[in-house]
Amino acid sequence: MQSPWEYADFDDHEVVHFVTDRSTGLKALIAVHSTHLGPGAGGTRFWHYARSGDAVVDALRLSRGMSYKNAMAGLRLGGGKAVILADPNRTKTPEMFAAFGRAVDGLGGAYVTAEDVGVTVADLVEVSKQTRYVSGLPAAAGAVGGDPGPHTSYGVFLGIKAAVRRKLGKDSLSGLHLAIQGAGSVASGVARRAAGEGARVTLTDIDASRAQRLADEVGATVVAPDEIMTLEADVLSPNALGAILTAESIAGLNVAIVAGGANNQLATPAEGDLVRARGILYAPDYVINAGGIINVASEYLGDADEAGVRAKIEQIPERLEAIWEESDRTDRNPAAVADDMARRLIGRG
Ligand code: NAD
Repeated sequence: MQSPWEYADFDDHEVVHFVTDRSTGLKALIAVHSTHLGPGAGGTRFWHYARSGDAVVDALRLSRGMSYKNAMAGLRLGGGKAVILADPNRTKTPEMFAAFGRAVDGLGGAYVTAEDVGVTVADLVEVSKQTRYVSGLPAAAGAVGGDPGPHTSYGVFLGIKAAVRRKLGKDSLSGLHLAIQGAGSVASGVARRAAGEGARVTLTDIDASRAQRLADEVGATVVAPDEIMTLEADVLSPNALGAILTAESIAGLNVAIVAGGANNQLATPAEGDLVRARGILYAPDYVINAGGIINVASEYLGDADEAGVRAKIEQIPERLEAIWEESDRTDRNPAAVADDMARRLIGRG
């Protein structure tokens, strides 16, 4: 039996809590990677894991990712993440989320939760009845909060423009060809903004009708999901799944830039070198997709209004620039550079 200290993803996490509540059937893990910059903040995932060890790996990996992401977004937040181990039917009850809320509350603010895969705003409302250490709740009229998707899209769009400026020397996306993977919340915002600036957009989604609706709206072309990774374009913007950049897919890329909002785009850190070796400019995912967490953090910390949130999202391009500069100067791939920068920010350089 492997102990948490032996997991490859264990990275001196400050605490890892195993939570059980027999009366509601709650089984959860709360991992706090770092509180160096502030409370360990990150969403809760509700997922059925074939093996409970997979849940531990997810909690460890995702909480470290949040440390890096929050640090690189300039937030006064550390990194944490929770996973709730769902049964195969993903049975959910308000009581279960209430029990989870009590567990979060018991940590006294070391961990602040929000949405992640499988967790809705309604679930968080149940959590919020038990603890104030929660964000991503319905926004009151005029207040900061609500759906992070549009904020993520805005940051991704600005990041794509920064990459285009650096790699192609152009200040506008007008006339450029963008290949967008996904037609969901983040992808649709990116597609609208890019098309609005005159870019030619080709997109895909495994939900064909969703892809077609978005394409009709923005005047884009739809391709099959397996065509997007090899499409000849200026920019590939992955906004669907993780682990899409593998040795095989990187060899088939036909773009100058990869810049999109999907989390964990590189299958493993080693793929960062392969993208760079192909001369493709890569925007590290957790830096370019920080718009949503910037909005969620401002809701929780109460330190910015809508204009303040926009101003913080508008700093994403300069962070990317700093990463690309260091990448060129030190001849290392941008994802590795971003990880190093993040580790310095959380006092683990
Ligand atoms: P979403 O669920 O709204 O959209 C994802 C879309 O991807 C869906 O339409 C789905 O059908 C499609 N998809 C799934 N597999 C696909 C495949 N193989 N090929 C093509 N399309 C496929 O999710 P979202 O909120 O837009 O998030 C997209 C990505 O961005 C995820 O990786 C998410 O983790 C990441 N992200 C989102 C936010 C946010 O604020 N929503 C913030 C940071 C990162």
